[in-house]
Amino acid sequence: MGERIFLSSPHMSDEGYEMQYVKEAFDTNWIAPLGENVNGFERELADMVGSNAAAALSSGTGAIHLALRAAGVGEGDIVFCPTLTFSATANPIIYQNAVPVFIDSDYATWNMCPKALEEAFVKYPEVKAVIVVHLYGLSADMDKIVELCKKHNVVLIEDAAESLGTYYKGKHTGTFGDYGIFSFNGNKIITTSGGGMLVSNNEERIAKVRFWATQSRDQARHYQHSELGFNYRMSNVVAGIGRGQLKVLSQRVAKKKYIYEFYKNELGHLEGIEMMPSNEWDNPNFWLSSLTLNSKVRPFDIMDALEKENIESRPVWKPMHLQPYFEKYDFIGEGVSEMLFENGVCLPSDTKMSDGNLERVVEIIKGLWKE
Ligand SMILES: *Cc1c(COP(=O)(O)O)cnc(C)c1O
Repeated sequence: MGERIFLSSPHMSDEGYEMQYVKEAFDTNWIAPLGENVNGFERELADMVGSNAAAALSSGTGAIHLALRAAGVGEGDIVFCPTLTFSATANPIIYQNAVPVFIDSDYATWNMCPKALEEAFVKYPEVKAVIVVHLYGLSADMDKIVELCKKHNVVLIEDAAESLGTYYKGKHTGTFGDYGIFSFNGNKIITTSGGGMLVSNNEERIAKVRFWATQSRDQARHYQHSELGFNYRMSNVVAGIGRGQLKVLSQRVAKKKYIYEFYKNELGHLEGIEMMPSNEWDNPNFWLSSLTLNSKVRPFDIMDALEKENIESRPVWKPMHLQPYFEKYDFIGEGVSEMLFENGVCLPSDTKMSDGNLERVVEIIKGLWKE
C-alpha cells in the first residue's frame, strides 16, 4: 500500500519562508505576545484581500465570535446562518446567547440560497446579523445576498475560512460584508498550525476587536477592565508562519485548481457524477474538490474504497439543522443541503499530491463503475 494521501494537509513553502520569519522572532527573543510578525501578517493579509484593517486571532472560530460582538449581536438576537457548513460557523452564535436560524443551500452555488434568505427576512424581520459561508472555496451568490442585507439594513459577516484566494467578480471573498473572517487551521489552503483573522474596512471596530482579544485591558497603570475580555490574540511565532505561507498562496490555489481539473477530466463523464458547481462570476480557490452522486455507487462506496488504499476523503458537511445540538432551531429551505449531504463526497485535494497519486485516486473510483 502506498503512502497515505490526505484530504488537505499542511504544506510549508519549499523556500523556507515560514522559518525565516519564525527565526526572526526567536533571534529578537520576540516569541510573544505581539510583535512585528503579527503586525506584518495583519497588514499583508489586509492588503492582499483589499481590506482596510485586520486583526490576527487565535482561530477562525474566535474571529467569528468577535465579529458577532462587533456587530452588536447579543442575548436573544436572531442570526441567519447557512445550514450547510462546519459547526464553527454556528457555535459562536450560541456563545453570544443569540439564536441561529438556518438557511438552506442553492444548487447553483452549494452556499446560502438567496430565495431562502429572502423568506427568512419575511419571517424574522427583527434579525440582527447574517453570516454567509463560501464553502470549499466556492463563493456564494454575493450580489443578491449583499443587496438583501442592505435592503433590510442588517450586518453581513462572511465566513471565508475556506475561501482565502477566492474572488467573486474580481473582488476577494470576505470583503463584501461588514466583517470577513479567515482560518489558518491545519487543513485550510494555508495554515499557521492554527489561527484566524478578522478583516473589516472599519478600522475602529478592528481596534476594538484587538482590545477584546487581549482581555479588554483599559488604559490604566493597574489592571482595569470595563468590558468582558477574551484571550484570542495570535502569537508572534504563529504569525511568522502565516507571513511565509501567504507568499505561496497563489501557488497553492494553482495546484488546487489543477487537482480539480484532473478529477473533472477523469471522473466528470462517469454516469451520475456531478462536479461541484462553477459559476462565471466565481474564481474559486478549489480548497476541496467535491462532487455529488446520482448513481448506484454511493458516497460511502467511494470513501471505503479509498480508505482501503490508505487515502483520505470525507462526506460533505452534515447540515446544522440535522445536528442533535442544533435541531431545535428553525430552518428555512427545501432540503437542498440534505441532498448535497446525502450524495456528496470531498476527494483528496492535498497540494502535495503527485500526478501518480491523482491517478491512483481516479483508478480506484473508476473501478467502482466497472463492478
Ligand atoms: C475551519 C472553519 C472554521 C473555523 O476555523 P478555525 O480556525 O478552525 O476555528 C469556520 N468556518 C468554516 C466554514 C471552516 O471551514
